[in-house]
Amino acid sequence: MHNNEWMARDLGVLWHPCTQMKDHEQLPVIPIRRGQGVWLEDFDGHRYLDAISSWWVNLFGHANPRIGDRLKAQVDQLEHVLLAGFSHAPAIELAERLVAITPPSLKRVFYADNGSAAVEVALKMSFHYWRNQGQARKTRFITLANSYHGETLGALAVGDVDLYKETYRPLLLQPITAPSPDAYLAEPGETPAAFARRQFAAMEALLEKHADEVCAVIVEPLVQCAGNMRMYDPLYLRLLREACDRHGVHLIADEIAVGFGRTGTLFACEQAACSPDFMCLSKGLTGGYLPLAAVLTTDRVYGAFYDDYQTLRAFLHSHSYTGNPLGCSAALATLDIFAGEDVLGRNCRLAQCMGESVADLAGHAHIGDVRQRGMILALEMVQDKATRTPYDWRERRGLRVYRHALERGVLLRPLGNVIYFMPPYVIEEEEIALMAQVAREGIELATRD
Ligand SMILES: *Cc1c(COP(=O)(O)O)cnc(C)c1O
Repeated sequence: MHNNEWMARDLGVLWHPCTQMKDHEQLPVIPIRRGQGVWLEDFDGHRYLDAISSWWVNLFGHANPRIGDRLKAQVDQLEHVLLAGFSHAPAIELAERLVAITPPSLKRVFYADNGSAAVEVALKMSFHYWRNQGQARKTRFITLANSYHGETLGALAVGDVDLYKETYRPLLLQPITAPSPDAYLAEPGETPAAFARRQFAAMEALLEKHADEVCAVIVEPLVQCAGNMRMYDPLYLRLLREACDRHGVHLIADEIAVGFGRTGTLFACEQAACSPDFMCLSKGLTGGYLPLAAVLTTDRVYGAFYDDYQTLRAFLHSHSYTGNPLGCSAALATLDIFAGEDVLGRNCRLAQCMGESVADLAGHAHIGDVRQRGMILALEMVQDKATRTPYDWRERRGLRVYRHALERGVLLRPLGNVIYFMPPYVIEEEEIALMAQVAREGIELATRD
């Protein structure tokens, strides 16, 4: 069967995520037949370079033999067993290894099955910790402007991207929102660190005022990915860690997108020597193979739940597929790749190559910013460079780049007016050159009128 037939069948029955389905009257849905490395191939034999790691999940390429082999072995051994009252080797081994590679205070692992669920777990656990400590007044959360933590109701509530949130606002908890340290908002001449320090003053004031009713501050360390790949200085995390301690408030690090080498270090928190009270992991955890999430926390948090059954202090949260053995095996194979190869060293070279490939665009009349943190690079298209006036979102200029890139065999899926690269770590230099060239052409097309 060819693309056309699959497209017609798809539109006859599927409802796609993050999509106005009417768009597909104009825009084709692309049915993928197979993947190999950084490449996806459709049913007509067209290939697409997966420059966004299939929504930031894929680390070591599609059809990676090491992950595939491990999964095949696991599937014949044990596909699933409930994790209440029962356990299995992949869940135990993965938890041990996650504890070993994450910041030192994190000692306990609670599994879930997707990123949003991990955020829900962290929020509930933090709230319940304080309740178990006799601090039932703590019921609120502090979040950063422009943050994203997923789209289930709790996770959506602590995010701040209007596109996802506005419609559902009547259903949501009300967090306290602190201004973002996003360096794009700095004054001309102000360094990212100076801006982070300045923005932190507002966070400090909120903590001062609300600490008695706040359970936790939740942040995406270093990069607000769904919030247009905005980046901030590690100093902010360092100041935040200290302040949370001073005010008796938890720090939740949502490393769902930035974890596993994306920002240059294994975890983004490391760049601020920050050890959070909760760390949420998903996306790259399984190398992009299966939905799985883990919430890591401290012995102190764990200890506050440990008691006799009758006290109702136990943490009550369950997903049917909690700690699925196949997911855990894919994650173990992924960690084996990190352990056996100098992934971070290679990423450092790839990141440099990525930066060089688009360095000239910093001078483009409609590029307001070229920013990068490790294996994430973003290009911000603007109407007016001097004032950084954004294009009206209704003009959908990013969509023009998307269409052009597809024709040229590259999957770039912009966030509004921001074109970004977040490729699998197995990308080669020539492929980076292609990605950059296609982005350049797309930006040219999208900004010429
Ligand atoms: C993707 C993402 C989530 C949500 O994960 P899902 O698996 O899509 O539910 C949460 N936080 C961050 C920072 C993310 O990028």
